[in-house]
Amino acid sequence: MQLLALRAQFPALEQTLDGYPLCYLDTAATSQKPQSVLDAMADFYRYDNANVHRAAHQLSARSTAKYEAVRDKVQAFVNAQRREEIIFTHGTTEAINQVAWGLNQKLDSNSVILVDTAAHHANIVPWQQLAQRTGAKVIAIPLADDGRIDQQAYQALVAQSPSIVAINHVSNVLGTVNPVQAMVAQAKAAGALTLVDGAQAVAHKRVDMQEIDCDFYVFSGHKMYGPTGVGILYGRYQQLDTLTPLLTGGEMIEQVSFDGTSFNTLPNRLEAGTPAIAEVIGLGAAIDYIANLPQAATQKREAELVNYLQTQLQQLGGITLYAAHNDNCGAVAFNLNGEHHQDVGILLDQQGVAIRCGHHCAMPLMHSLQISGCCRASIGVYTSHEDIDRFIEALSSVKAMLID
Ligand code: PMP
Repeated sequence: MQLLALRAQFPALEQTLDGYPLCYLDTAATSQKPQSVLDAMADFYRYDNANVHRAAHQLSARSTAKYEAVRDKVQAFVNAQRREEIIFTHGTTEAINQVAWGLNQKLDSNSVILVDTAAHHANIVPWQQLAQRTGAKVIAIPLADDGRIDQQAYQALVAQSPSIVAINHVSNVLGTVNPVQAMVAQAKAAGALTLVDGAQAVAHKRVDMQEIDCDFYVFSGHKMYGPTGVGILYGRYQQLDTLTPLLTGGEMIEQVSFDGTSFNTLPNRLEAGTPAIAEVIGLGAAIDYIANLPQAATQKREAELVNYLQTQLQQLGGITLYAAHNDNCGAVAFNLNGEHHQDVGILLDQQGVAIRCGHHCAMPLMHSLQISGCCRASIGVYTSHEDIDRFIEALSSVKAMLID
């Protein structure tokens, strides 16, 4: 499909800001949504709206069937062995909190948790909280000078027999890609449980749970052309089955009396309360959308766009790029030398260009790079070379205004 036709499927892209056509380079924060996702959610509310798993009536049966069909879809999307290994959460953050809470009983003061220095706060703070509850120790896996994980240091840390290893698949700031399969294998050989944060990977790469072989893999719907408010916790059945539920209440029980309560089996055990039904259905439409894209061509085009962004920024001059490698995925991090990232972002916005500025919920990474923050331009399936040219042109005028 031509890019113009593809872009036309994303209504939010067709707007102007202060007279400038929107140039959306903030897909890593949240992607725009195709019409098919918007329609799936609207249709659900218009025709099927009912709670799931509960009532005897037809609307509820339809709603439950649609909701559960998305579980099958996600199972196929990530190649999980069983549909019960797919838990619907409200996002990556909740998914990691569920895992960290669920491991309360498994850690003690001798336990070590290894965490990627470049991790998002969602993949740091829940582990710190778990450490506080159990006496375990969190150790950061350092980055090498090239901004990637220092694999030698990682091996030395893995030799300390950690209980948990929590890493990015793709960094939300730098776009660097961790060799997750090899890192998981090393962690497993040392007896650790592994969690891979795939929030920035799933929109750009096919992920296969049998290949990566991690215990937990988590991601959010809204970064993969789906709605906000829904995310996925994939877990190996045996691991999920022994997690203490973070939320308790309706849906997740088998028997309740004032003498005690028994819990339901997976997946319900970890899905307390009314789920985000419309959002799950929207996520199903987003998966269909991704599945219908020509996979190899899309990945190649996105890789070219990231490289184009990197080289155009380099050619502009006066720019510091962070961890810019050929095989980075989705995002490019930079600063305009001598200028505050926030000023750059605000001035770009005045020309219709949307990028993200700040610490990107990755303060330890900022400390490691010895900066307070940076700008990030990120791409999606709808990003064009013209978007990047417009961004560079706008940045050039910002540079002229601030520096020249
Ligand atoms: N991890 C990564 C790598 C992310 O990019 C994000 C979102 N910026 C999160 C976790 C948190 O995702 P959410 O806010 O959807 O829970």
